[in-house]
Amino acid sequence: MDIARFPRVRLGHFPTPLEPMTNLSKLLGGPNLWIKRDDCTGLSTGGNKTRKLEYLMADALQKKADVVITQGATQSNHARQTAAAAAKLNMKCYILLEDRTGSTDVNYTSNGNVLLDYLHDAVVDVRPGGANMQAEMEQLAEKLNAEGHTCYVIPGGGSNEIGALGYANAALELTSQAVDMGLSIQHLVHATGSSGTQAGLAAGLHALNSKINLLGIGVRAPKQKQEDMVFDLASRTAQHMDIKTPISREAIVANCDYVGDGYGVPTESMIEAVRMLAAEEAILLDPVYSGKGMAGLIDLIRKGHFKKDENVVFLHTGGSVALFGYLDTFASNAA
Ligand SMILES: *Cc1c(COP(=O)(O)O)cnc(C)c1O
Repeated sequence: MDIARFPRVRLGHFPTPLEPMTNLSKLLGGPNLWIKRDDCTGLSTGGNKTRKLEYLMADALQKKADVVITQGATQSNHARQTAAAAAKLNMKCYILLEDRTGSTDVNYTSNGNVLLDYLHDAVVDVRPGGANMQAEMEQLAEKLNAEGHTCYVIPGGGSNEIGALGYANAALELTSQAVDMGLSIQHLVHATGSSGTQAGLAAGLHALNSKINLLGIGVRAPKQKQEDMVFDLASRTAQHMDIKTPISREAIVANCDYVGDGYGVPTESMIEAVRMLAAEEAILLDPVYSGKGMAGLIDLIRKGHFKKDENVVFLHTGGSVALFGYLDTFASNAA
């Protein structure tokens, strides 16, 4: 797996820590729970998009872009990390935010990630829920190109075969850490959305011939659609990396039972997970992704999905700054 040949610009702090969650493991009565701290990637409060952006922004620089355009939901962690990366690399950043939740809470529309988008000097524009965001981005790129700019359009979540390289590389990072620690990992669990994280991990683990079971907890799409999306991108990423053997469809597993009423809409189990991790491990999850991902992990543990002596790693994909967009959801500790 020769990832070093792909252009990469350094934006984050790597490797991220791999740490035990002793209190949570004890509280739930096993398995042995670990956490891979990709919330600590360093770029503007961190998160999983930083790994993808190291490859995407390198590609943008190679193509001599002076403008990057991307899109996401209002509280998009991807948009915020893209705005930060662009600031660091002296590029102008345009962000199109899709109003997927319809929330009019000023904290949701202006605080958290949105506040940071503005601080990083991005130009932010809003589109209604259900808009064709890819088409909206291309339209904007056309206009700016006609004005003499060179635009680089990054898909939502940075999820294409270039961005996914970041998570193929993360598979290598995680497995080498495990070797150094003498840790045999059986399961890797994380929140899956636009699919680049799981696709990259699947391609990387496949290239490494790893036996780790990879499980994505969905936050938006139903299971079949989510798995198809991940499988498609994992296959394209493996091809891009010149991996000779195809990834098997069975290696791609998503559990989409924890979405609740929809993307970004709070659930009871997400609130419990966010509170539990903050109280037991002093770890801040987020309401949209890692909170629902952890809710899925906790529920599967309670249902006996894992053996008590197994080592299960939760990949913390970041996003805790979005907590400040959900003040009403978490404001009170009253019973
Ligand atoms: C984007 C994001 C995810 C999902 O990653 P994908 O690569 O889009 O599947 C998970 N957690 C957080 C905090 C994110 O911002």
